[in-house]
Amino acid sequence: MEKASILSILRRENTVFTFKDILLASAETNVLLLKRRINYYVKNKELYPIRRGIYAKDKNYDRLELATKIFIPSYVSLETVLAKEGVVFQQYDRIFVVSYLAREISCDGQKYFFRRIKDMILTNSLGIDIKKNYAIATAERAFLDTLYLNKSYHFDNLAPLDPEKCLELLPIYRNQAMAERLKSYRCNRCRHPFIQHTQTELAQKPGSNQKTYVHKCEAKNCNCLDFEG
Ligand SMILES: [Zn+2]
Ligand SMILES: [Zn+2]
Repeated sequence: MEKASILSILRRENTVFTFKDILLASAETNVLLLKRRINYYVKNKELYPIRRGIYAKDKNYDRLELATKIFIPSYVSLETVLAKEGVVFQQYDRIFVVSYLAREISCDGQKYFFRRIKDMILTNSLGIDIKKNYAIATAERAFLDTLYLNKSYHFDNLAPLDPEKCLELLPIYRNQAMAERLKSYRCNRCRHPFIQHTQTELAQKPGSNQKTYVHKCEAKNCNCLDFEG
């Protein structure tokens, strides 16, 4: 393999590469030879070895990208997304990932927490954003993944969630108990179920890029407009 073929993978936008990524991108079919070449680049500091079979361009690789390359398929979800979207207020050092197995891994000073979810759900891409280098759940998908994996869970604030999107995602879990749990979350104002509200985005204030929403309650004779989780 010519040096150029490794350099070409380094020119990609990705910051993390598995051995398989490098194998597919290079013309080298001899696995042993490719391993030897990779070791040479590692020694010359042109590749940064993160863990067995996983490499980065340098130490400043994207942790979320690595999170989804340790086990495949997987996507970033649960508390990592819920905290980012303001559904839970606690901030977590660990990165939460959903995959086909449960595992806790510490790598390069970062903890990764893998929760196991059924293949049927894992491979359904509804509510999953494919970012440039990794897959991450939307707020609604992370919310439902959490409901699926926990018998009871306290969410600090349901306002960032779109109840209609939650209902659209619900069938992929095929889980009646979970559907009941979803219905049990109520609006703090009118006490009707959260999923009876519909979300409407308000016009943005000039100079602000913060999206604001109202949640109108669809229950009969209820004029609740400002949903509170
Ligand atoms: Zn209501
Ligand atoms: Zn309400």
